[in-house]
Amino acid sequence: MKNDFTIKIDGSFWMVRFVEFPEEPDKLGMCDFENKCIFINPNQSSIDVCYTLAHEILHASVPDLVEEAVLRYENALKSAKIFQRK
Ligand SMILES: [Zn+2]
Repeated sequence: MKNDFTIKIDGSFWMVRFVEFPEEPDKLGMCDFENKCIFINPNQSSIDVCYTLAHEILHASVPDLVEEAVLRYENALKSAKIFQRK
């Protein structure tokens, strides 16, 4: 089980919680803007957790950004393998 933690995004503290999404088992993460909480599906590799967290941090930081733009950013991080370097 992965442990929850707190991060600071643009000066605000956000909770990062690892939870499954029973209604949508394939969902990897989501942002709860009202409660400043990022939910991450724990059923993914540690590296994928990093990419999902980066994705959700971008949502948290720039709420108006459309999903397509956030996905393009996430895919750019993946193609650069920024979380896979030794
Ligand atoms: Zn998204």
